[in-house]
Amino acid sequence: MNDSKPPVVMIFAGSDPTGGAGLAADIQSVTALGCHPAPVVTAITAQDTSELKNFVAVDTELVIEQARAVLEDMPVAAFKTGMLGSAANLSAVATILADYPNIPVVVDPVMSTGGGDRLSREPLEDGYCSVLLPLATLATPNAIEAKQLAPEADSREACIQKLMSLGCEYVLHTGSHEPTDDVIHQLYGHHRCLETFTQKRLPGEYHGSGCTLASACAGALAQGFDMIAAVREALHFTWHSLANGHQTGMGQQLPHRQYWADQGSSVRRKP
Ligand code: PLP
Repeated sequence: MNDSKPPVVMIFAGSDPTGGAGLAADIQSVTALGCHPAPVVTAITAQDTSELKNFVAVDTELVIEQARAVLEDMPVAAFKTGMLGSAANLSAVATILADYPNIPVVVDPVMSTGGGDRLSREPLEDGYCSVLLPLATLATPNAIEAKQLAPEADSREACIQKLMSLGCEYVLHTGSHEPTDDVIHQLYGHHRCLETFTQKRLPGEYHGSGCTLASACAGALAQGFDMIAAVREALHFTWHSLANGHQTGMGQQLPHRQYWADQGSSVRRKP
């Protein structure tokens, strides 16, 4: 038996059968950060790398049972939320998280796929604003999500301030959806910008980049990094996963979240 236990990250997310986004993305990311993933399934999607075909939200009672079973069994070092599938699941997850106020929570406010297909049959904006974002240690909205959550705000800064006023301790506003040459991410905390991270824009479109980033943040927080260092680590991991991405299907590219293992891999590849 190995006595050095990896920190556990509990992930609330939906499954994506392409393996690009959702639970597979989260599991690979937190594993890459040296953590043990505890995946709680909130929804099941049918999709390819181009479009969403269908989805079903997992019954709320079953979401609660999955989480409670694990929380009563092992110590959790960080939570991450992604696709929740329904307003009822969102509220249930918030109720669970509220019982663990000392464990960091990363909220990726997922409402749609990258292609714009809605990942819930009812609006989730009110639920995010009233019960989940107030519990977030870190929220990781992209520009589209930030605008949806703060529709009256007329600038990036105003959106972020609105999210912070809801109770998020830190907000990482990600920049890939904005028309800038480089991608500019900003981390806010204590109502001011703590750090701006600039990354070279990569060509192409990727499936699951937001999931990768948010889970990597949760993994780094679980490892004990402070917030600025955790976000820096997670952005580095995400950028390299995308830069090593591959065109596996016919639509968006998939991140390669095991890029770091390639050189040391003991599994032989076909030439
Ligand atoms: N979760 C699931 C299950 C999804 O299918 C998607 C997008 O397809 C997402 C989350 C969000 O993905 P992204 O990281 O591309 O924003």
